[in-house]
Amino acid sequence: MKRANDFRLSKLARVVLYPQDFLGNQMVYATISQRAGGLSIGINMAPDQKCNFDCVYCQVKRDEAHAGRHVDIKVMSRELVQLLAIVQMGKLSEVNGFSHVPPELLQLKDVALSGEGEPTLCPNFHGVVQELLRIRANPQFHKFKLVLITNATGLSLKTVRDGLALFEATDEVWAKLDAGTQEYLELVNRSRAPLAQVLANIGTLASTRPVVIQSLFCAIGGRGPDEHEIGEYGDRLRELVLSGAQIDRVQIYSITRDPGKPGFCSHLPLAVLSTIARRVRVKTGLKVEVY
Ligand code: SF4
Repeated sequence: MKRANDFRLSKLARVVLYPQDFLGNQMVYATISQRAGGLSIGINMAPDQKCNFDCVYCQVKRDEAHAGRHVDIKVMSRELVQLLAIVQMGKLSEVNGFSHVPPELLQLKDVALSGEGEPTLCPNFHGVVQELLRIRANPQFHKFKLVLITNATGLSLKTVRDGLALFEATDEVWAKLDAGTQEYLELVNRSRAPLAQVLANIGTLASTRPVVIQSLFCAIGGRGPDEHEIGEYGDRLRELVLSGAQIDRVQIYSITRDPGKPGFCSHLPLAVLSTIARRVRVKTGLKVEVY
């Protein structure tokens, strides 16, 4: 069932301010997120825009000028503390881009490890999480939830495992799974990363804590995923469930913003997404949300 706020959220989903557009920040930005259900503060874990996927729908306009940039934990920490204070004082509506957002949507839902590339490729992932937990422990701020938004390829890296070991039960990992076959992964994510590795990483993490699966389906060259691909996608989820993976929910959605590169992918209608969701529910018994 859609939340009451979804209509407004779908209109507001474009309120995305990247660090460079937001208070002169380098690492921390704010967004109204449909899937978060309101305000999400983003930590840009990839100022270098590094990613091992090249998704057809990616919004990041990659620019060589970003090469070599890294997460400066001191800067990140200062910017996050400043933004948390603004949110807590109810002053976010005074910041450019947020004046039209209803006050109830300016309540903080989460702090997301996300950004302009793949967060698990951040060499100091563990150090960033440690600093976020230090800030969270400050009684000056309301306790916030952490969410890692990842393509799952780096979940097995030591610094990531060490960071995730510090997550509490209420924190979440949202792992991308856009394909049920290697062929479709290479088409939509434009990566040679093995699907088997992505699934193994999700399965390993989900054996220790619940994981949220995020799946974006779009039309590529005018065609959405075919029956066979949707069946295979459902089979991969079913295999995860049967292997003991704890999957809290599956989020199915399509493109809501313009891709960074003008391209050949486009939005899929809600009816198509709902059909995919229904098939996954039947096949896996999982809770599936459509956005
Ligand atoms: S995984 Fe995320 S950052 Fe990487 S290309 Fe895909 S959408 Fe862009």
